[in-house]
Amino acid sequence: MKLTLDKTAEVLRGAQRIVLTAHVNPDGDAIGSSLGLMHILREMGKEVSVIIDDDIPSIFSILPGIENIQKTHENMQEVPADLLVVLDTALDRIGKVQEFVKAPVLNIDHHITNKEDKVRVYVDAKRAATCEIVYELAKELEIPFTRDSALCIYTGIATDSGFFRYSNTTPFTMRAAAELMEYEVMPNYVSEAMELKSYEVVQGMAKALSTMNVFHDGKAAGLFLNDELSASIESTEGFIDMIRVIEGVDVAVLLKCKAENVCRVSMRSKRTDVSSIAMSFGGGGHIKAAGCTLEMPFEQAKKTIIEAIDQALGQQG
Ligand code: 5GP
Ligand code: MN
Repeated sequence: MKLTLDKTAEVLRGAQRIVLTAHVNPDGDAIGSSLGLMHILREMGKEVSVIIDDDIPSIFSILPGIENIQKTHENMQEVPADLLVVLDTALDRIGKVQEFVKAPVLNIDHHITNKEDKVRVYVDAKRAATCEIVYELAKELEIPFTRDSALCIYTGIATDSGFFRYSNTTPFTMRAAAELMEYEVMPNYVSEAMELKSYEVVQGMAKALSTMNVFHDGKAAGLFLNDELSASIESTEGFIDMIRVIEGVDVAVLLKCKAENVCRVSMRSKRTDVSSIAMSFGGGGHIKAAGCTLEMPFEQAKKTIIEAIDQALGQQG
C-alpha cells in the first residue's frame, strides 16, 4: 500500500519499539538513513535498534551511533518490535532480518525499481537519497536536527549524489545539505572520510584497471575482476568511477566475483537506462546507477552482461 509522507510520519509516531534496517552491501545512504532516522526516533523517546545484515565498511566509523548497528547471527533471539522500517531498498535485499523481526513493515525508499506492494511503502524516486526522505520526515515529525542526525543524513545525501555532482542532485538536495551544515557538519570531513582507501585497495585499483575492456564502439567500458582478483581486493568502492569518465563511454560496468558462481554487477550510465538491464536479471537501482547479481561462473557472467549492455545500447541506434 502506497503512503504519503504525512501518513509515513504517522506510522512512525504510532510505534514505540522500532527496528530499522537497510540493504546488504550497505552504502552511505543505507547506513546514513538508518542512523539518521535512529537519532530522530530516539529524540522522540522511541526504543530503536538497527540491524543491517552485512559488514559495515570502516569508512563509516565517523557516523555517530555506528556502534548500534547489529548483524544477524545464528543464535540471535527474535527482536520484539511494533514496526520494522526497511530503508533504501525493497524487501528483497535485507538478508535474514525478517527471520528475527516479525513486526509489520514500513518501507521507505527512493529507488525507481521498488515495486513493493504487499507492505506500507513510501517511495519517492525524485529524491537523490533515502536520506533526503529522512530529512523530510524530521520536518514532518517536527524533530529538530542534532549534530548526530545531521551528520548521518548529510553523509547519505552526499554519497548518493556523488557529492552533489550527479544528475539526481536537485535544488532540494542543495538546500537540505546547506541546512544540515548549520549543525556543524563539515563537507570536507565527510568527503575525506568517504574517500579514504587503504594502500592495498589502491594497489587493487591498479590491477582492476588492467582488466579494462571497451566495447560497443567505445560506448561501453568494463572492469572484469575474476575470482582470483576479486578475492584479493577488499573493496571496489569507487572503482567504476574511473572508467565512467572515459570520453564517449555511456555505460560503465564493474563485474566481480563474490563467491563460487556468484558475480556482482554494478553499472553507471550517462544516458542509457541501466536499471532496466539490472531488473532483467532480478536486480534494480536507478536509471543511471544500478546493480544485480548473476549466479553463474565469471566468464559466463562477463559474456552475459556484455551482451545485455550491447543490446541496450543497440536499441538506441
Ligand atoms: P552499486 O553499483 O553502487 O552497488 O549500486 C547502484 C544502485 O543500484 C544503488 O542504488 C543500489 O542500491 C542499486 N542496486 C545495486 N545492486 C542491486 C541489486 O542487486 N538489486 C537492487 N534492487 N538494487 C541494486
Ligand atoms: Mn540510496
